[in-house]
Formats: sequence, structure tokens, C-alpha cells
Amino acid sequence: MIKGIAVLGATGSIGRQALDIIYNHPDKYKSVVLAAGRRVDDLIELARVHRPALAVIADETLLPALREALAPLGIATAAGVSALADCVDLPEVDMVLTATVGYSGLAPTVRAIKAHKDIALANKETLVVAGQLVNTLLSESGTRLFPVDSEHSAIAQCLVGEKPDTVERLLITASGGPFRTWPAERMASATAADALKHPNWSMGAKITIDSATMLNKAFEIIEAHHLFGIAPERIEAVVHPQSIVHSMVQFTDGAVKAQLGLPDMHLPIAYALGESTRLAGAEKHLSLSDYATLTFEKPDTERFPCLSLAQYCLSRGGTAACTVNAANEIAVAAFLAGRIHFGDIYNVIADTLAAMPFVSTPSYDDYVAVNKEARARATALINAINV
Ligand code: NAD
Ligand code: MG
Repeated sequence: MIKGIAVLGATGSIGRQALDIIYNHPDKYKSVVLAAGRRVDDLIELARVHRPALAVIADETLLPALREALAPLGIATAAGVSALADCVDLPEVDMVLTATVGYSGLAPTVRAIKAHKDIALANKETLVVAGQLVNTLLSESGTRLFPVDSEHSAIAQCLVGEKPDTVERLLITASGGPFRTWPAERMASATAADALKHPNWSMGAKITIDSATMLNKAFEIIEAHHLFGIAPERIEAVVHPQSIVHSMVQFTDGAVKAQLGLPDMHLPIAYALGESTRLAGAEKHLSLSDYATLTFEKPDTERFPCLSLAQYCLSRGGTAACTVNAANEIAVAAFLAGRIHFGDIYNVIADTLAAMPFVSTPSYDDYVAVNKEARARATALINAINV
């Protein structure tokens, strides 16, 4: 059977790499929906090549341009936030790849769970914002979710064949980002151009800034907790500047299993699309002799205070991480626009957390409300900062 994939975030870094894999394996996969946020020209170009049944653009003002270009090709079009979730219901969709940025991943993921569509989850923010709720819905529906994030794919690969009660600790590797060796004073005034220079990975702008603050690693600890059901105090971040060891699992007999590979997302994307199976024929394979040394160090939570937000959010539970995610999205956008300093990102998150009400067992509507309010509060805090 050829598997129909809905690629949400098709014009992005993960979306394009997934489309490469789908295009090169027409015996296995077909992209039936392509969805994007605002880059309508890119979406049109991709739709011409990949010929999905449906193309979706989140920004409704761009629908006429999309329709005009794709109607002659017989490709249906839709727009808006609701269309981004509705599209997963299409009968030709067997699996949904969620590769949009930030909070926008939650609604389509929830819809996919309800529609019993397999999920390949790149959008980690979905589990950060609402991991508790997503897990409840997954266990009620029996829908399967496969992680795309390289660290979580690595952990899933290490867990194959192991008994859950023999897992002692998850060791999530982190490159340390572009500021790994920078002194605190220099980091405080780093520019967007400095922060966008990731040493090993080529990714979208938002996750690249999250890697520079190391909030990305905090999010990955939260993501791992929800995916693998391991207690927060047994999940650790380890700085590994070469990004060759993608993560590790330590077992109760002391053994450590690791998954290694080049820093290239094609492998974890293909492993998720294939429901935890391997796809032969990767372009480049890791040659360990090219890497004379692989090094590991403890992360510095003083220079990277965002990293501590993982344990804070997991011990508080409820809507804490939803607030952190919302404040961060606003702060990162402001930093990229040159409106705040790098060092302000953490302060905006911490001040938003302090100002926000907290819901301990949130419903879907509570997450919606907290996301909205936290964004408004973070925006007000930023407006009060003069750069
Ligand atoms: P990107 O910025 O390169 O692409 C994002 C895609 O999502 C684009 O197609 C964009 O049009 C779309 N989009 C953005 N906002 C949207 C919205 N509000 N509604 C609908 N569509 C929207 O991002 P990326 O680097 O591909 O990352 C995508 C997700 O995957 C993120 O959650 C990120 O954390 C995760 N991820 C990325 C990588 C990586 O290597 N890039 C690795 C692991 C996890
Ligand atoms: Mg990752």
C-alpha cells in the first residue's frame, strides 16, 4: 500500500526534507496534502512538483493566489487555521507529519488523533504545550505517534527490544549551540545574526534561536518525558558539540546504548514515516574515522537559564509549559526583529510566568486561553523594553 502523507509545514526545513524522501520513494509514499503558513509562492512551487490532492495556506489572505495557480492543475485549495486541522480528515491521508512551528501544531495533532491517523511528530511544541492532554487522547484513541526530533528518534531506537522497567536514565545530547563557549556578558548582547549561526544543524529560524538559548533542550526534556513516560529527574541534557551521538539510554545494569549518525534529519524523518523501520539508501553515511574525538560536557545552567525551565515546568505541570512556550514564541519573534536583546528572551519568559494564572489540570480550552493570554502579557512586557 502506498501511504498518503499530509505534510504540515511543507515549505520548511523538515517539510522539504520529508518531501525529498516521499518523492524518492513513490512505491512507498505519496504526499496528499501540503500545508504552509505564509510562503505561498514556495507552496505553489512544491505543489507543482508533488501534485497533492490539497494545498492549504494558513494565511487566508493568500488563498486567491494559491487557488489561481493550482486550480488549473486540479489541486484543491483551502486556507485558515481551521483548514490546517480539517485537512487531516481527508480519506487519502494515512499519516500526518506535523512540521509547523510553535503552538500551531497542537490543533492538527489533536484532530489527527481523533481521526485515528498515524502521526509523525516534528512539532515538539505540541507536547510541550499540552503533553498531558495529548497522551490522554492518544491512549483513548489508540492512535500511534512516531517522534521525528533526532534525540527522541535516537532514544526510541535505543529502546527497541528493551524492557521498560530496565531504563534508568535518558541522556539527551545538545550541541550547545553557537554560544557554547561565549562568556555571559558577550551573550547578553548577541545579535540575531550571531544566534542564527548554528554550528551543526541547518534548521528554521525559531528552533535555531531556541538552540542558542538552549530552551530547545528544555523542550526536548519535556517532550521526552511525555513520549517515554520517564520521570523528569531521570532525564538529563549532556552537551556534545559534534552532534554525532543523537542521544543515549542508560539501563539498570549500567549499560549505555547510543544512536549515532550525521547531523541530518533525513534519517529520523524516514524512520518516523516508516513507523520505526529503516529506509535503505541514505546519500551520506557516518564515517567515524572522520571524527577523531567525540566529547561530552555538563551544560552550564547559569549561562543558559532557559535549560532549567524543563525541570520547573515538569514539576509544576498544568499550564506552566504552555505559558513558557507562548512567551518564548513572542520573545523570539521580537529578538529576530531586533526589538529585544538576546538576554531579554529568558527575562520575558520568567516575567510572563510570574504574571500568569496557573491551571493544574487543563482542558483543551484552558490551553487555548492560556496561550492567548501569555502572548498578550509577553507582548506588553516587550513593549515596555527600550532597546
Ligand atoms: P521552518 O521555519 O523551516 O518551517 C516551518 C514550516 O511551518 C513552514 O512551512 C511554515 O510555512 C509553516 N508554518 C509556520 N508557522 C505556521 C502557522 N502558524 N500555521 C501553519 N503553518 C506554519 O521550521 P522547521 O525548522 O522545519 O521546524 C518545524 C518544526 O520541527 C518545529 O516545531 C521544530 O521545533 C521541529 N524540529 C525541527 C528540526 C529541524 O532540523 N529543522 C529538528 C527537530 C525538530
Ligand atoms: Mg532535536
